[in-house]
Amino acid sequence: MKKEVYDVIIVGAGVSGLRLAAFLDKTKLRVLLLEKKPVISIQPRSFGTFTYTAKSHGLEPFIDTYFDTWAFYGPTVKAARTEKKIMCLVNYARWAASLKLKRVKVKTGVDIVKARRLDSGILLADRSKNTYFGRLVVDSSGFAQVVQRLLGLETNKETGLSYEVELDNCNLHVQKEASFILNFQVSNSGGWLYVLSRRKAQFGWADFYPESDATLADLKKRVHRALKTLTPYNSWLRDCRITYSYGRFGPAGKTPHKVYDNVIAIGDAGGCGTPVTLEGFREAVDSARMAYQTIMKVRDYSAKELDYFLDLFWDTYGRYYHMHKIIRYIYLHWVRNEDIDRWIANFNSVNKTDFFRLIRGEHTPYLMLKTLDTRLALDILFNAINSVLPSFLQFRPPISTSKKEVIYAKS
Ligand SMILES: Cc1cc2nc3c(=O)[nH]c(=O)nc-3n(C[C@H](O)[C@H](O)[C@H](O)COP(=O)(O)OP(=O)(O)OC[C@H]3O[C@@H](n4cnc5c(N)ncnc54)[C@H](O)[C@@H]3O)c2cc1C
Repeated sequence: MKKEVYDVIIVGAGVSGLRLAAFLDKTKLRVLLLEKKPVISIQPRSFGTFTYTAKSHGLEPFIDTYFDTWAFYGPTVKAARTEKKIMCLVNYARWAASLKLKRVKVKTGVDIVKARRLDSGILLADRSKNTYFGRLVVDSSGFAQVVQRLLGLETNKETGLSYEVELDNCNLHVQKEASFILNFQVSNSGGWLYVLSRRKAQFGWADFYPESDATLADLKKRVHRALKTLTPYNSWLRDCRITYSYGRFGPAGKTPHKVYDNVIAIGDAGGCGTPVTLEGFREAVDSARMAYQTIMKVRDYSAKELDYFLDLFWDTYGRYYHMHKIIRYIYLHWVRNEDIDRWIANFNSVNKTDFFRLIRGEHTPYLMLKTLDTRLALDILFNAINSVLPSFLQFRPPISTSKKEVIYAKS
């Protein structure tokens, strides 16, 4: 049992932890990266994201596919208005394997089970009772939020669940298209299809929590069934073979991040994933960069100084969080499949800049108003009124968020 002392300890070598380690490797700070798994392995292996994000993080050599379009599919309609190559698929697992950390010390197979605040930093302990002292501890442990949890700090409980499959032997008619599909027949959230070539694709679905009580096994079952039956994907994916699959819970930030004395949380551990789309890669790598910028700027690791991290995060992501929460509530409680169709049809009439802002999650009240028309607005309003009436006064069938997710599973 020996105590190791560091300037910065990063707990979790996923997307955000590894990215931060790569930044700090160029500094003179004593840095330790701890990972619970016996080897560093990135899951899912690749991420659909914005090309500018990949480029700004030097990930261009690890882009497997550039997409020509990013399309929204509703139950029957489609909207696609992006410039070519604006989106891509980054093989982050390949980046992680190529990463050579020279100064940062990496320890795998280390499961942090205790954390205690001391005067000038945080003391961590693993299962084998080894202890590690960090003047700053960065929680990048994803949904586990292990440092915050062990220190008794507030954690994000609101979560999303995602399940994804990699496919071979597809019969894809759309080329180089990434799409997001909204259809309550499968889940209360949405799904995605990344077309990699004529034969290969990635396909997945998410579910919003805590509104949903589905399990990972339920979501897996629905993904498998959707491959065979969900239009328009079924005709392309019916005969495909699943080569890899991965599913996981994750937080979709209830609040956009917090900092404490000697502690920053980044990536999913900070509640990064955007509450609407559950996109998390961009926030994970960007928050790693923001943590690096903060570490380089501050005089000490007090919460007051670390506030700089929040300023950076708020500037890029934070201001949209409240709007995301409202949209998500409306979507879950007052929207049906036919509304989705009208809504997505309206996306075709916004200009390309606004369409891109919709994909990026830059949702402002004004932007969202642009996607409504009178009939859709009235329909959502009637659904809202209907939802607060006692059952004998209701003038249309009630919308239940739990129903939204089971229709398909039972059919
Ligand atoms: C199926 C699926 C598909 C997705 N697809 C996309 C996509 O296409 N685009 C996109 O933008 N986002 C996507 N996401 C979201 C994205 O995966 C996450 O937002 C991102 O991985 C978060 O990175 P992270 O570093 O915060 O956490 P993680 O990648 O979860 O890394 C956390 C790390 O901490 C380690 N750890 C946990 N507990 C401990 C402990 N006690 N001690 C030490 N280490 C610990 C874990 O082993 C892990 O390695 C997807 C998510 C899922 C589940």
